[in-house]
Amino acid sequence: MSFVERLRAERDLPDEELKTLLETDRFDEELHKTADEVRQSVYGKAVYLRGLIEFTNYCKNDCYYCGIRKSNKAERYRLTKRQILDCCAQGYALGYKTFVLQGGEDPFFTDDVLCDVIAAIRSLYSDCAITLSIGERSEESYRLFFESGANRFLLRHETADENHYSVLHPAVMSLSNRKQCLFNLKEIGYQVGTGFMVGSPYQTTRNIISDLRFMQSLSPDMIGIGPFIPAKGTPFESFPNGSVELTLRLISVLRLMFPHALIPATTALGTLHPQGRELGLKAGANVVMPNLSPVEYRGKYSIYNNKICTGEESAQCKDCLKRRIESAGYEISDSVGNVKRETVK
Ligand code: SAH
Repeated sequence: MSFVERLRAERDLPDEELKTLLETDRFDEELHKTADEVRQSVYGKAVYLRGLIEFTNYCKNDCYYCGIRKSNKAERYRLTKRQILDCCAQGYALGYKTFVLQGGEDPFFTDDVLCDVIAAIRSLYSDCAITLSIGERSEESYRLFFESGANRFLLRHETADENHYSVLHPAVMSLSNRKQCLFNLKEIGYQVGTGFMVGSPYQTTRNIISDLRFMQSLSPDMIGIGPFIPAKGTPFESFPNGSVELTLRLISVLRLMFPHALIPATTALGTLHPQGRELGLKAGANVVMPNLSPVEYRGKYSIYNNKICTGEESAQCKDCLKRRIESAGYEISDSVGNVKRETVK
């Protein structure tokens, strides 16, 4: 059996074989084809849309890679409850059944403030999923958000290697806390997503293998990976982009290791390659996250340079994605798109 067939059958490979697989393009064709077969066997040709609402770019953290880190000069904004609900209304009219509230770690959004927003969305859109992507909070806060109606949470671990983590983040942040947050979220009952940047500064193949191993221990429902893209004004502004090719290869590896995962073809992938998201879908991804933020704020949520989809209205964004998804041979699903979990035999 080839490496790829074995990865498909066993959903795992020893470190040395993963290393070989990740460091050559020799297997790419077989990898992408096999990953697409596995994706289709679980999710068919369905692509799930998640409307992304970037509701604040204030952040108390100072992650070295991020364009909206505390120390970076950036014009700051936060959306009001009204504005957030307007985004949801627009998204619902476009057929979106998931709203993703993403932002920096903004102390303005206390538990009370955020619970109020979540509860309002929940009462208006009982048939929709509410996903949070707001960074690290206490277990108690996560519980309150869940009780208010949030049911999914995205929190990329960023890198599972302690050393590498400390190269990407200031010393006040810790990998162990981030991991603990993920396990807390899972325990509370959220569908949980994690992930990492491909080609972040100083990342090695060994680091990526640690990322895969960490994800095996977490069993995430969603896995988001995208290439690192430098952000102006940050300590990493002069580092090179992550590789599109390696990102696609990893999407396929992840699909084979986690057949049931919801995996987005990310905006970062679309930023580095004009057909990045289509290629992501063909490599095993099954989610796309169109931007639902008000157009006047989109350019300000500049976590990296040259982010796409900042100039168009939400409806245009949807039309464009529909064309892209269909041109790649897939179809937009109108279901809420919960994770399909394997029934234990
Ligand atoms: N504050 C939230 C949301 C962060 S933004 C949180 O901490 O989870 C979402 C993701 O964008 C991050 O998890 C990170 O992986 C990614 N990101 C940040 N800066 C980036 C960059 N320069 N290039 C590519 N991806 C980046």
